[in-house]
Amino acid sequence: MTEVYGHKASLRAYFDGNGFERWAAIYGEVALPSRIRRSIREGHAQMLAQAGAWLDEHTPPTGARALDAGCGTGLFTVMLAQRGYDVTAIDIAPRMVSESAQTAQDAGVRERVTFQTGDLETVGGVYDVVGCFDVLVHYPAPAFAEMATKLASLSRGPLLLTYARWTRPLAALHWIGGRFPKGERRTEIQMIPDDFVTRTLANAGMRVHRRTPIDHGFYHVTLLEARPASGSAEGTQ
Ligand code: SAH
Repeated sequence: MTEVYGHKASLRAYFDGNGFERWAAIYGEVALPSRIRRSIREGHAQMLAQAGAWLDEHTPPTGARALDAGCGTGLFTVMLAQRGYDVTAIDIAPRMVSESAQTAQDAGVRERVTFQTGDLETVGGVYDVVGCFDVLVHYPAPAFAEMATKLASLSRGPLLLTYARWTRPLAALHWIGGRFPKGERRTEIQMIPDDFVTRTLANAGMRVHRRTPIDHGFYHVTLLEARPASGSAEGTQ
C-alpha cells in the first residue's frame, strides 16, 4: 500500500475506523434510526440512480474498462460490472476494499472486478469510464484540483464525479450542521464553487457535459459528467 500523509492519512484512518461503521450502515440495508442518516442514504441512492442513467447512454466498447475511484462499499462498482465493464475498484481504506469485494461477491460479479487498496492518485492506465462519487467532497480546493486532474487523465470517455458545491445558503446550512451534537455531526465537507470545478476540468482537457444538483434532506452534492474536450462537439455548460 502506498504511503499517504496529512489530510489523506486522516481520511484513511477515519474510513477504516469509525467512519467505516457509519458509512457501511448508510450505504447498506440495515434499518437506520437516525433521520439524518436515512436522508443521506436516500440522497446517495438518488445520486447513484442518476449516474447509472447517464452511464446507460454510453455503450461500453468490447472489453471496456472502468475505474471506481474511492469505491467505498462497492455500490457503483457493481453497477459498472453489471453493465459489462471490467472494473478496477480502488479505495484508500482497506476495510472499504474488503467490503466492496463482499458486495461484488454477493452480486455475482466478483470476477469482473480488480480491487486495489490505495490512493486514487497512484492509479495508472486508461479507462473508458471513470467514476468518483462522494470522495472529492472531503478535499479542499487545492487537493480537489489535483485529484480531479488525475481522474481526468485516466479517462478517455466520461468522467462522472460528485462534489459539494459552494453556495451561500449551503455554506450557512453547513455551518449550522457543524453545531449539531457530535453523534449526528457528519464528516467534514469541503465546498467548492461550480466555476472552480469547470476551470479545473477544462485545464485537464475535459469539458463539463452536464451537471445536476442532488439535494435530499441532509444530502447535498452536485453530480457532474465531463468528457474529453477533443473529439466531442457536445456539451456547452
Ligand atoms: N464512492 C462510494 C463511497 C463514498 S465514501 C459511494 O459513493 O458509494 C468515500 C470513500 O472515498 C471512502 O471509502 C474513502 O475511504 C475513499 N477515499 C477518500 N480519499 C481517497 C483517496 N485519496 N483515494 C481513494 N479512496 C479515497
